[in-house]
Amino acid sequence: MKGLAVLGSTGTVGEATLDVAARHPDRFRIVALAAHSNHEALFAQVERHRPDCAALVDRQAAARLTHRIAAAGLPTRVLAGPDALAVAATAADVDAVMAAIVGAAGLASTLAAVDAGKQVLLANKEALVLAGPLLIDGARRSGATILPIDSEHNAVFQCLPPGCLTGGAPAGVTRIVLTASGGPFLRARREDLAVATPEQAVAHPNWRMGPKISVDSATLMNKGLELIEACHLFGLGPNAVRVVIHPQSIVHALVEYADGSVLAQMSRPDMRVPIAHALGWPERIDSGSAALDLIQIARLSFEDPDYERFPCLGLAQFAARCGGTMPAVLNAANEVAVAAFLGRRLNFAGIAAVIESVLQQHEAGAVTSLADALAADAWARERALRALDSIAKQAAGA
Ligand code: MG
Repeated sequence: MKGLAVLGSTGTVGEATLDVAARHPDRFRIVALAAHSNHEALFAQVERHRPDCAALVDRQAAARLTHRIAAAGLPTRVLAGPDALAVAATAADVDAVMAAIVGAAGLASTLAAVDAGKQVLLANKEALVLAGPLLIDGARRSGATILPIDSEHNAVFQCLPPGCLTGGAPAGVTRIVLTASGGPFLRARREDLAVATPEQAVAHPNWRMGPKISVDSATLMNKGLELIEACHLFGLGPNAVRVVIHPQSIVHALVEYADGSVLAQMSRPDMRVPIAHALGWPERIDSGSAALDLIQIARLSFEDPDYERFPCLGLAQFAARCGGTMPAVLNAANEVAVAAFLGRRLNFAGIAAVIESVLQQHEAGAVTSLADALAADAWARERALRALDSIAKQAAGA
């Protein structure tokens, strides 16, 4: 029996994880569930999965959850506050941690799980972008295994030679190719992009995802963050990672070898596939996803991304080449800009403008501790807010 902690259990990856785990009650036991503040959804999960503990970052929400759990006569213990995530992740009965908190908010708990030597199913791409070397070195020290959940990185992992783990450069691999659907604006004209609404941006053609990653997918920043993530996970430089637009989202990634062989992983765009791969690894287990029908799909196409209409991808490549604190700065500026876009305080084109202005102001330093990563993150958030202010002033004056 594998004991699971699911961090971010009320999000789409968390829900998909619980769906896969529930198909295999003989293999998995849910030990801990954790979320930010959605106590209603978390209570429903507690009733269904009966974990030992349930954690909420928001203390008021945690108090409501405690009340409901007591009223229902359930034995689940409630943890509250920002440290609750790391406590849930490192509990003694936890063997594997699904790290599925969105954004920089998931970094400390992911690092705690790595340092505790847990098997870490890593869905929180921002943690790797912010502090990749800390996570990879930490896993080497503690013996933790990092299994990628992001569908592209999970696909790369599946295409690596047997026995290969994350963290090092696999022998014979010359390049990896990450595919991108292109998002909802793949064919949009530049002038329409500038005035795209949050509703249009989150309407992803293939994947069902939360709002933040859906916007990242529309700007192609998601692929930029994934490029940085891939460099850390597979020990490659940014030039060894290529991004290709593949609108059908059937091929998730490809690995090119020195002999000219190219291995690809294919599946329906269903997060339960990479989740089941990592949960069962190294065995294969049922994910609940329907079989892939190649005749029905009929056609797979590939094209280069348009860097002019989607400048975020180029900004991420720049940050990847600079290294050090630059990716953390990119990520933080993006989080601030995306939140402003979702709150209708910034237009779609403004997302890249805010990030570019913050990157230009930054001189990259080394990331040797969590404090370094968090300091760069805080610096960039403050600069991004200032950039937002000046854009708002310009708009008001125009
Ligand atoms: Mg992905």
